[in-house]
Amino acid sequence: MKSALIIGITGQDGAYLAKLLVDKGYRVAGTSRDAQMAHREGLEALGVAAQVTIHSAALTDFRGLWQVIEKAEPDEVYNLAGQSSVGLSFEQPLQTFESVAMATINILELLRLLGKPIRLYNACSSECFGNAPKPAVETTPFEPRSPYAVAKAASFWAVANYREAFGLFACSGILTNHESPLRPSRFVTRKIVSTACRIAAGSGERLSLGNTGVIRDWGWAAEYVDAMWRMLQQDTPRDFLIATGKSYSLQDFTAQVFAHLGLDHTEHVDVNPGLYRPTDLLESRANPSKARELLGWQATMAMPEVARAMVRAEREHMSAKENRT
Ligand code: NDP
Repeated sequence: MKSALIIGITGQDGAYLAKLLVDKGYRVAGTSRDAQMAHREGLEALGVAAQVTIHSAALTDFRGLWQVIEKAEPDEVYNLAGQSSVGLSFEQPLQTFESVAMATINILELLRLLGKPIRLYNACSSECFGNAPKPAVETTPFEPRSPYAVAKAASFWAVANYREAFGLFACSGILTNHESPLRPSRFVTRKIVSTACRIAAGSGERLSLGNTGVIRDWGWAAEYVDAMWRMLQQDTPRDFLIATGKSYSLQDFTAQVFAHLGLDHTEHVDVNPGLYRPTDLLESRANPSKARELLGWQATMAMPEVARAMVRAEREHMSAKENRT
């Protein structure tokens, strides 16, 4: 039986990856900053909360993480933890850098000193490309435009450096946005879906958005965690760009969501310049052909399917809540 440790198991991707690995017969352990207080809703919703062990671990605490690895005895470590909001990173740049970049170096250093054949996946982000020429591929130079992207770029280069210098089996997935019903509502896709569903149910509220002209490549989280796993099954550790290859504006996403509810978004949305970011990535376009060729991975859901699935899940969630009250 293979064993995996998911650092950041309580997040969206952590829960989907735990489900994937449990279904594959792995023994799965994970970390949260505080295991007792950990949000297990995602793991519960996917039916795997009882099959995983959660340990407390502070990401930059070398000794604490070492103890967790000793207990979990993983063959594979997935580093999915850290401050993951681009918007919040402008308000908490140091916390973002520490929990993303310094934490990754902490994990790399630990694996180097342990000297065991443990494979590492690191969660990097297509935010690192900034406004670099499109479509981005793995070799496109990074031009980060947020403290989050700066931290992710540092983590990417730390992984590449440890792989080259010490021969670690370590790789980064450069992932575009991927969504699901487990996305917290601070993220714009979930905010749009939740608010639109409440409006459709008669709440009478309005949806306030920042720059709806930004263009993103939105995929489905359950498919993206499969790409993470595939990266660690290769003979050679390599970095991969994971994307659907199809990009749409935030306005397109909003229009799709409202249309699925039989509504015209222009009647319910306000654009609020106060929600604009100091600097933003205007357009995310990516070419995932290396992943298709070497990993045999390809997204089956792009933005229209993602929007439809999120609306369906939100409506089911709302009616289940109503039935309980
Ligand atoms: P989430 O935010 O859902 O989960 C991240 C987990 O990290 C949380 O559950 C939390 O666990 C822990 N965490 C949150 N803030 C901090 C902090 N300040 N310090 C330490 N730990 C923290 O992220 P996702 O599951 O969506 O993403 C997984 C990884 O992939 C992240 O690194 C993200 O940046 C990256 N990524 C995500 C993309 C996406 O579209 N979802 C796109 C590209 C990259 P706890 O509170 O239990 O400690």
